[in-house]
Amino acid sequence: MNKSVLSVIGGGASGMAAAIEAARFREKTGAGIKIVIYERLPRYGKKILATGNGRCNILNKNADMEKYSGGVRLAKKIFGVFTPESNTEFFNSMGLYTRLEDDGRMYPMSLQASSVLDALRFELQRLGVEIICDTKITDVKQKDGGFILNGKYFSDAVIIAGGGKSSPVQGSDGSCFELLHSLGIKLNPQFPSLTGIILKSKNKSLKGLRARGEILVVDNGKVSAFSSGELQYTDYGVSGIPAMEVSRAASEHFALHKKGKLLLSVNSLPDFSPEEISEYIENRKKQNPYLPCEDLLTGLMPKKLGIAKLNSANIKCSAPISSVTKNQCAALTEILCSELFEISGVLGFEHSQVTAGGADTECFNNATLEALSVKGLFACGEVMDVDGRCGGYNLAWAWSSGRCAGLGAAKYLSENKFGK
Ligand SMILES: Cc1cc2nc3c(=O)[nH]c(=O)nc-3n(C[C@H](O)[C@H](O)[C@H](O)COP(=O)(O)OP(=O)(O)OC[C@H]3O[C@@H](n4cnc5c(N)ncnc54)[C@H](O)[C@@H]3O)c2cc1C
Repeated sequence: MNKSVLSVIGGGASGMAAAIEAARFREKTGAGIKIVIYERLPRYGKKILATGNGRCNILNKNADMEKYSGGVRLAKKIFGVFTPESNTEFFNSMGLYTRLEDDGRMYPMSLQASSVLDALRFELQRLGVEIICDTKITDVKQKDGGFILNGKYFSDAVIIAGGGKSSPVQGSDGSCFELLHSLGIKLNPQFPSLTGIILKSKNKSLKGLRARGEILVVDNGKVSAFSSGELQYTDYGVSGIPAMEVSRAASEHFALHKKGKLLLSVNSLPDFSPEEISEYIENRKKQNPYLPCEDLLTGLMPKKLGIAKLNSANIKCSAPISSVTKNQCAALTEILCSELFEISGVLGFEHSQVTAGGADTECFNNATLEALSVKGLFACGEVMDVDGRCGGYNLAWAWSSGRCAGLGAAKYLSENKFGK
């Protein structure tokens, strides 16, 4: 029997999910399809090992569309079929069990990212998917009703799953955007997301400090993003989950060359109202009038952070607490609740966890992820213009879109080609 060939470009999360889903379809139907993954690095799945600080936040149990940006309409359609439950089942069926943590975050039972990669590897091997590493695909051309890759590998259908531009040391160097562009697919501007925020005025004394906070990105006077949680102060500005989450809005401002000021508003005491903070200061004045001001806020926050806030409010750290005037108290309260910092940039792709922008989802069938203008061409994962917040939302998209494209491509080959 003649076999049709399905090539998957990229052996990352979405490419492996696509290949497995296609191979399971082959197993079930007996369709004559040869499935090959081309991976540019010496090993496939490298990025998975770095995810979730080595624990791999494999998915989120909620397909909450508010956590996504870009082509949300298409993503919603795909998550409606390839749901978080079906992704959990996808892993369970390979022998990988998951555990649920806060905010719907799912992790492998082992809490080791390597278990996720192992499960995918063993399933790819069991299903007989061919994997060719050390092979970067730099050219895809349409030929004889199919495609020719790098001028030598013929393929009846192609799934482009090469990721975005984020963390290129793990393989995703943006080359798949070029492949899609060469095949006539519209690309939306790409910019780093889930990355650190660079502030114009730097306070190096806070480097390494972690403290709870609520932050807003204020773009020309309008709030464009909000998050809360543990902020990490760095030598360039701020990082940690809340900063990463709002970094998309900041990054977009710079990528689209928007005019006007971009500010970060930081509430360092989100659990207190301004009235409660003023009352606290007044009480300290009564209780400990002779203590130096540098000890004024030690009951509320790390001392270094308190000193930075006192400096911003022009309160001398060595002066006694009793000397704090009503105006100084008001200024300090305002700074504690909403100190404004000018944002001068974000860390680039090399430090970002995900790429915003990419292949315009309007160019794809929302049930199969086949390109509307090129028969037999599919795409999935981060190369598409869909990106999520922290919490397992990006890998969730990689699994769901990968499985969708894999099934779509296998069905396309069995229905339209000679692989029945
Ligand atoms: C440090 C870090 C931690 C993260 N943690 C999490 C987390 O815990 N939870 C979560 O949901 N998301 C996390 N993410 C995001 C998540 O890992 C990605 O969104 C996801 O891996 C995207 O999958 P993908 O298959 O589209 O692309 P990738 O995983 O980037 O895979 C693309 C693959 O294609 C290969 N490739 C690229 N171009 C070519 C080419 N031309 N020819 C051949 N091969 C090519 C690359 O080498 C790579 O192996 C994290 C990301 C980073 C960087």
